[in-house]
Amino acid sequence: MRFGASETNCRSCQQLYPVSDLDRYLWCPGCQKAVRKRGAIWGVIVGLLAILGVATYVWLNLTLQSRFLAFYLLMLAMTYLLTSRIAHAIVYGYYRSRGGMIEPSSPQEPE
Ligand SMILES: [Zn+2]
Repeated sequence: MRFGASETNCRSCQQLYPVSDLDRYLWCPGCQKAVRKRGAIWGVIVGLLAILGVATYVWLNLTLQSRFLAFYLLMLAMTYLLTSRIAHAIVYGYYRSRGGMIEPSSPQEPE
């Protein structure tokens, strides 16, 4: 252990880590990776749902023309990129501001 180094609990998982390993919100690298992964999963889900919605709207309301196929595909790709990034940012920010990803546990039995 270095001089001056101390340990504290990760705010998310409550495991003990050196302060230098934690970020400014006092989250350990494992919890940071887990919240990014959860945000990415929600980003994919929301992005695919948004694509489905836009594709349905285009299919029902526009006269599809093959010369605009590239435009339609570009529109779906941009819809996916934007909505998945927004969903990722919202989920990531939600868990970070909440202070943890682990649900509060029920009171433990005294040993
Ligand atoms: Zn942690």
